[in-house]
Amino acid sequence: MDSIAICPGSFDPITIGHLNIIARTAKMFSKVIVVVMINRKKPGGLFTPEERIDFIKRCTSDIPNVEVDFSDGLLADYAISKGAVAIVKGLRVLSDYEDEFKQALTNKKLAKDVETIFMVTDTEYMFLSSSVVKEICSFGGDISDFVPKEIKQDIINRIRER
Ligand code: ADP
Repeated sequence: MDSIAICPGSFDPITIGHLNIIARTAKMFSKVIVVVMINRKKPGGLFTPEERIDFIKRCTSDIPNVEVDFSDGLLADYAISKGAVAIVKGLRVLSDYEDEFKQALTNKKLAKDVETIFMVTDTEYMFLSSSVVKEICSFGGDISDFVPKEIKQDIINRIRER
């Protein structure tokens, strides 16, 4: 039977920190669905959901058991609809934990058969977030070590347009 895991996020844009979590999750489950979701706490993204999906597809094309999708609904409902057994979230610093813990408890209440699994980031990505990438790039800094090479130029171009 398929064991399906969901990696949700805003991915605006995907970073190598995200990619690390996705690749490690893909080793543990038969299928990983990376789902771009709307985070109401982060309005006005740099990229549209369609662009974020395209970026993730380009960066994960070498991992055969990864699929990419979009959802503007509740994560718990989405996970149930896909028959997922797990939601995998990456944890960077302790401050990630409080919010993630609340979300995990809520999702457990709404989808009792779906487990939230926290994967600790590899140390070199501890500081890395989409916001850090956008900030460095907007000051003309080099983002080569932070984003997959497939999408680096798209990010630079978009930031320059703004
Ligand atoms: P961000 O916090 O960068 O805006 P998202 O909302 O897109 O990211 O996050 C999606 C998931 O990826 C979350 O579980 C988040 O904790 C995780 N994540 C983001 N960056 C990293 C990283 N550098 N290392 C490990 N996990 C990460």
